[in-house]
Amino acid sequence: MHYATDVTQLIGNTPLLYLRQLSERTGCRILGKAEFLNPGGSVKDRTALGIIRAAETSGELRPGGRIVEGTAGNTGIGLTLLANALGYKSSVVMPISQSKEKIDTLELLGADLHLVPAASYNEQGHYIHTSRRLAEKYANSEPGGAIWAGQFDNPANMAIHRDTTGEEIWTQTGGKVDGFICAVGTGGTLAGVSTALKAHNDRIVIGIADPLGASLYSYFSNGRVEPSTGSSIVEGIGINHITGNVAKAKVDTAFSISDEEALPYLFDLLQHEGLCLGGSTAINMAGAVRLAEQLGPDHTIVTILCDYGNRYQSKLFNPVFLQNKGLPVPSWLEI
Ligand code: PMP
Repeated sequence: MHYATDVTQLIGNTPLLYLRQLSERTGCRILGKAEFLNPGGSVKDRTALGIIRAAETSGELRPGGRIVEGTAGNTGIGLTLLANALGYKSSVVMPISQSKEKIDTLELLGADLHLVPAASYNEQGHYIHTSRRLAEKYANSEPGGAIWAGQFDNPANMAIHRDTTGEEIWTQTGGKVDGFICAVGTGGTLAGVSTALKAHNDRIVIGIADPLGASLYSYFSNGRVEPSTGSSIVEGIGINHITGNVAKAKVDTAFSISDEEALPYLFDLLQHEGLCLGGSTAINMAGAVRLAEQLGPDHTIVTILCDYGNRYQSKLFNPVFLQNKGLPVPSWLEI
């Protein structure tokens, strides 16, 4: 008899999916790691688990304690599920600009949710700084104490991706992987997977797919962090400062990807391959095509299928929203 004994055991060990249209288009074998299958519905469940386990090991997180985090939503969903399962409390600080569906999900899960106005990273009102102050407040006022998850700089984030996501990709491809590419929110996925793959084979080419106008494309192309000018509608990725996790990423090549370029891949995936995924997956798919074009045919490239599309239905799959942004509208949603 085989069964998981708690929800933490449902995290990770996700399959690789052959992406047919991207592969046929490029002559490469393009594979997506099905992170949307994690119990919280995204790649960020791994980060949440890695941060909690590290804080338990260090003794910082005590039984019944609180985990506080600033998040675009998915890490908050993972942390809240795990806090519920493991006997902790959770508080989530999130910019109000994020999708209604993620806000609804966090409320559904019973998160202590704090929505804050959008602010730039160098302002004190930015959601990351707000969450750090909230963690300090709880740490001093609650008997169980509180920790700040700090996913952007916390090395436990990249470590879990190195030890699980990256090692899984190596094993699942039998070591026959030529390239890996993904977008960056905290950099945990890119730093962890690139570290694991390069340790096995330094010739594996690592790419970053950055949404148009975000700052990491310039950082990895010419070493300068140019101010963000982005207006991408994609949530959870596209940053304008170098996080502790980004600093550990081993990147060979960078691509800047517009929403106009990326979204058609997402719509085609839904219509012809039966999968409805979120916007960061679109950027990743476009990045995989660009990397395939750079490497040439007959290579195996892996990317991340980050989360489900219904988490963004009111934006990504809303014809009025897309039309107002001047973005392509999927044929079956045309008005
Ligand atoms: N896609 C989605 C939907 C996300 O929420 C995030 C994290 N914010 C990412 C991709 C990026 O992952 P990472 O934080 O590991 O860079």
